[in-house]
Amino acid sequence: MMSVTDNLLGNVFGIYLVRATDEEILKRKVASGGAVTALLVYALEKGLIDGVVTAKRTEGLEGQAVVARTREELLETAGNKWSIVPFASRMKAKIEEEDLKNVAVVCLPCQAQFFGQMRDFPLLESDFGERVKYIVSLFCIGTFAFEAFLNYLRMKHGIMAQDIKDIVLKGDFLEIYHGDSVLSLPIKEVYSYLQAGCLVCTDYTGTWSDISAGFVESERGWTVLITRNLKAEELVKSAEKDGYIELRDGSHVMGEVLKAAREKLARAQKNMMYLL
Ligand code: SF4
Repeated sequence: MMSVTDNLLGNVFGIYLVRATDEEILKRKVASGGAVTALLVYALEKGLIDGVVTAKRTEGLEGQAVVARTREELLETAGNKWSIVPFASRMKAKIEEEDLKNVAVVCLPCQAQFFGQMRDFPLLESDFGERVKYIVSLFCIGTFAFEAFLNYLRMKHGIMAQDIKDIVLKGDFLEIYHGDSVLSLPIKEVYSYLQAGCLVCTDYTGTWSDISAGFVESERGWTVLITRNLKAEELVKSAEKDGYIELRDGSHVMGEVLKAAREKLARAQKNMMYLL
């Protein structure tokens, strides 16, 4: 496949719809297809990487940087990351503390930029950048200033932080899974609780990554994967060949990804007028 470059989406080598073949991964990640977990399990089991650094939600919207070295540990990190405060420096510290030599980082677009720049244009006198083998960025519309958002959920909807099980974006609504119930909130209603930096952020997919992952409404149950270079393409194709993932061409969903990216850009342009 020819590589194309789009201003909003960055370098696109391939775009696919991907689903894990592992029943347990699928069970835990029904909405998103579990492709990222399956790919990383593949990379770990084939010895391509010695660890995955990612964020794990702890309580409410809080999270911590964790290292997964096995399939089981990766499954433990299941759940979306987009409500977690970004913390690239904590992820960097984890890589160094645990002395990982070949690591995959699963992160948000702003973190992907940090890791991508450290790798491609190292500013520090260390081998840190060389250790980052795969940067996997998740599509992102923003992360919450979580204390303000939790306060809003408690005051307006009576939802306590400790009862929140998951937060899922569905079309123009944010679904808050709490206790045995689901609260559906129009996304526009919660925009004001996003972090200020997110309101002016223009990167939806993570243009500095090797692989971007997210989903589109028209293909629920499948992960949209964008490969950005040959290394990423090879990983995806070999994981398919070895039966870890199911793969379909995803060219027909490019328009949907672009639409979301354009909406994020428009939001940023509008907010820049007020914030800058
Ligand atoms: S919206 Fe941008 S700045 Fe905010 S978390 Fe996502 S990628 Fe980072």
